[in-house]
Amino acid sequence: MRCRKCGQKAVVNMRQHKLALCKEHYLEWVPAQVERTILRYRLFTHEDKLIVAVSGGKDSLSLWDILWRLGYQAEGLYIGLGIHGETGYSETSRKLAEQFAIQRSLNLRIVDVLEEYGSTIPDIAAKSNRGRNKPCAACGLAKRHIMNQAARIGNFTVLATGHNLDDEAAILFGNTLHWASSYLIRQAPLLEADAEGLIRKVKPLCRMYEREMAAYALLRGIDYVYEECPFATGSTTIYYKELLNKLEAEQPGAKLNFYLTFLQAKEGGLFNEKVDSARELLHNCPQCGEPTTAPTLCAFCNMIGKTSA
Ligand code: SF4
Ligand code: ZN
Repeated sequence: MRCRKCGQKAVVNMRQHKLALCKEHYLEWVPAQVERTILRYRLFTHEDKLIVAVSGGKDSLSLWDILWRLGYQAEGLYIGLGIHGETGYSETSRKLAEQFAIQRSLNLRIVDVLEEYGSTIPDIAAKSNRGRNKPCAACGLAKRHIMNQAARIGNFTVLATGHNLDDEAAILFGNTLHWASSYLIRQAPLLEADAEGLIRKVKPLCRMYEREMAAYALLRGIDYVYEECPFATGSTTIYYKELLNKLEAEQPGAKLNFYLTFLQAKEGGLFNEKVDSARELLHNCPQCGEPTTAPTLCAFCNMIGKTSA
């Protein structure tokens, strides 16, 4: 297999794009694709101040690397969840995120949940009855809260996350199976800050296959945490990803087509009349100041409150 650009030996063959590339041209191609997504969906400009949520995994670190190479102003945010597992998941991922930032002289902000709130995520989940065996609901809530708060306090204009196409297609698949219209309305590469105190959220890797990002991290020499979070095992999202991978093996490009035609249908007006009614009234949480739809304290402060009870 030869590189389409230079005829040298190809190292990556993307059946979904009918494209094979050598290392040099692959490392050029990926940032160019990400730049296309940024422009196509008007995610942000060079004037924006970005904060990238980094978990220490291949997607978020590669995203930060790409934004840095493309000349965007991007700092990192690492959230220490206190998840140890057998391999010291949180410790390893923090170390790799810190190492990445030092190597590129980039600024990494760290919020350690245990230091900040007195309990780890698994403990918060258990004490607040939000999942004794699987702390994912509590974890997701805490991460969303901390990311928005860190971005707001740091005067960032955009929060970027490393969701790739496989993530987005799996979420879309789940939302479609349940016709979860309120989620389908909000699923997009860009979520505007449509209320005071909320930050614009973007997913610049939404058109990149997971496999493409793994190849990018590997060829770029990015040291990332290979293990998934121990609580990810057996999740529905992973099951949907496996189903979609079977489809993709039979029909290269099916995943991308599924996601992109959904975005096109939305641009064409699908869900339009539902958007206004989906915007709920927000007020600021009296304890932390974050915007919330809950009647009094926000869901996060409520959850944390239960852990100290
Ligand atoms: Fe949090 Fe791990 Fe669950 Fe992901 S899999 S939401 S990191 S607990
Ligand atoms: Zn609050």
